[in-house]
Amino acid sequence: MKSRAWAELLPKVQQRLLPLKPIVERLFAKNLVIDVLEGDISDVSERGYPWGGPAVYVPWMRTLAMTDEIVLGSFEWYGTYRGDVHELGHAVWYLLLGTLERWVTLNSMYAKAKREGRLLDHYSGLKIEEWFAQGFEAFWTKDRDEHGINWCRDDLRRVDPDLLQYMADLARRHGADPADLM
Ligand SMILES: [Zn+2]
Repeated sequence: MKSRAWAELLPKVQQRLLPLKPIVERLFAKNLVIDVLEGDISDVSERGYPWGGPAVYVPWMRTLAMTDEIVLGSFEWYGTYRGDVHELGHAVWYLLLGTLERWVTLNSMYAKAKREGRLLDHYSGLKIEEWFAQGFEAFWTKDRDEHGINWCRDDLRRVDPDLLQYMADLARRHGADPADLM
């Protein structure tokens, strides 16, 4: 089911994304579409999305697609995987950040973090978009689990306090309360 406004989201999706509501509303104002694939779907490519996985953000469609399993927190391959939040981070990168913020401010933060070995994981080192999305997901996550990709805010604080500070400022700038955690 495709939604183009907070009020159109299914209650279970609203509940899932509640701490991020002000940010999600800003994204909707930039024409984001959130597509929740209901039913027995394990991979968004089963419904024609160009990449696999349980959640994806497609920049040229301005669409965040996710499976029901993600929304309900029942996706089990990677523990408490928050792929929807990671992908929402990609939407923020593309829709809410200006060119200078991405390619000057954040690019120099990313270069510094890499130089100093302050990355959450290997995936964050692949490219700046993944570093940003992993940091975004970690920032909003309360607890981590034993799987090596599910970081939480304490991990971000320990590994990259500069990025933590940036994410807190970003939240405030878009009307979200950094005290809220998922
Ligand atoms: Zn990603």
